[in-house]
Amino acid sequence: MKAKEFMDDLRRRFPGEPEYLQAVEEVVASIEDVYNEYPDFERYNLLERLCIPDRIFSFRVSWVDDHGRVRNNMGYRIQHSNAIGPYKGGIRFHSSVNQSILKFLAFEQTFKNSLTTLAMGGAKGGSDFSPRGKSDMEVMRFCQAFIQELWRHIGPETDVPAGDIGVGGREVGYMFGMYKKMAREFTGTFTGKGREFGGSLVRPEATGYGNVYFLQNMLATRGIEIEGKRVAISGSGNVATYTADKLLKLGAKVVSLSDSDGTVVIPDGITREQLDFVFELKNIYRGRISEFAEKYGLPYYPGQRPWTLVKCDIAMPSATQNELNGDEARALIAGGTFAVSEGANMPSTPEAVREFINAKILYAPGKAANAGGVSVSGLEMSQNSQKLSWTAEEVDTRLRRIMADIHTQCTIYGTQPDGYINYVKGANVAGFMKVANAMMAQGVI
Ligand code: NDP
Repeated sequence: MKAKEFMDDLRRRFPGEPEYLQAVEEVVASIEDVYNEYPDFERYNLLERLCIPDRIFSFRVSWVDDHGRVRNNMGYRIQHSNAIGPYKGGIRFHSSVNQSILKFLAFEQTFKNSLTTLAMGGAKGGSDFSPRGKSDMEVMRFCQAFIQELWRHIGPETDVPAGDIGVGGREVGYMFGMYKKMAREFTGTFTGKGREFGGSLVRPEATGYGNVYFLQNMLATRGIEIEGKRVAISGSGNVATYTADKLLKLGAKVVSLSDSDGTVVIPDGITREQLDFVFELKNIYRGRISEFAEKYGLPYYPGQRPWTLVKCDIAMPSATQNELNGDEARALIAGGTFAVSEGANMPSTPEAVREFINAKILYAPGKAANAGGVSVSGLEMSQNSQKLSWTAEEVDTRLRRIMADIHTQCTIYGTQPDGYINYVKGANVAGFMKVANAMMAQGVI
């Protein structure tokens, strides 16, 4: 297999899907050598089968808004691979959602889920519906309409969705409710559920906490402690806020947060009281980060991202894809940033990734660093199957162990002759080998 020819062919077949092609290109480039060591892979055309999703559902979702107007959105579910377990991956509700974005997310999810050591395949779904500015009733009606179509294709042993951008506990609750009604079963078909109906403790915290645990493992390879370090975070949703929460508990200083309208800089690091306000603002009032800046008299930069506004030791992009470009990566490196750990999926552009790796700073791609969320989703599935629920300590201990394990897998496959750990290569090769071996064993299907 030649990576360039493979990608040229994929570009010809899937034009207009830039995010999908970007995600595939990164993986193909880093596994090319390993792939070519196993001639049977090519004989079974394994890479092409692994890069093209098993199937894609796309459908119209019609619902009625509070003014009695009929609205139409697109709904999707990409079932990418179930080679190592049932399809598993979040649902995203955001105006930018399209098939390319969900295909990239489902592809990444397959490798991420493989790294978790749990039995989960890869999937992703969503809609171009934006919950922003919608009433609770509108969100509920949309979720119900979405599931009235999707419910046939999901199930506890088939495909288990969860949250992502724009989909938190409220939306999962509404979707689970309609699923349960249509399927006439009470099973763990969604993860990220409310605690009263099968949700796992520590699931809301898991992606942010897991990212900090991964970061600690990376820092340990250079004997660095997290305490006292200045950390820039983007986003102010689930991943960003729980990342900030764990960092604060460990004595680090969180110097920025953002949303799609702008960035707030917190020069002395966020306090517990301020972070509690952000949780309330985002989860209860569904407000904007500018309101936080206004309340505490902090500098606010409309339309800007954090990376050139603050000096930080560590950057943790936790908003969305391609939110940190080459210029911003160079600015971070020039300012002394020595670690980047991605909470979001594919937040750094390919150019930014190259800069980080060339500068040999600690750089963890999302598929390794943010795998804590889906890991605890996997633990939620286990608890649901057993009809048991574990304590927060038990779940947190397992989460820490899984993140340490993912880190070890990255070092096994990513350590270079000079000792530098290329986490991109490590994560891609480790994630790939498990799925590839399972696909070989199962034949051409
Ligand atoms: P939320 O919806 O809770 O928060 C998303 C945050 O990112 C918000 O602050 C949002 O601002 C901001 N944001 C979204 N889109 C954009 C954009 N185009 N430009 C700038 N800012 C943007 O989502 P999550 O925190 O759950 O997800 C964040 C990232 O983490 C995503 O990449 C997701 O795929 C990834 N992830 C999430 C997991 C989870 O368990 N939730 C698991 C693994 C990865 P605004 O409010 O203005 O839209």
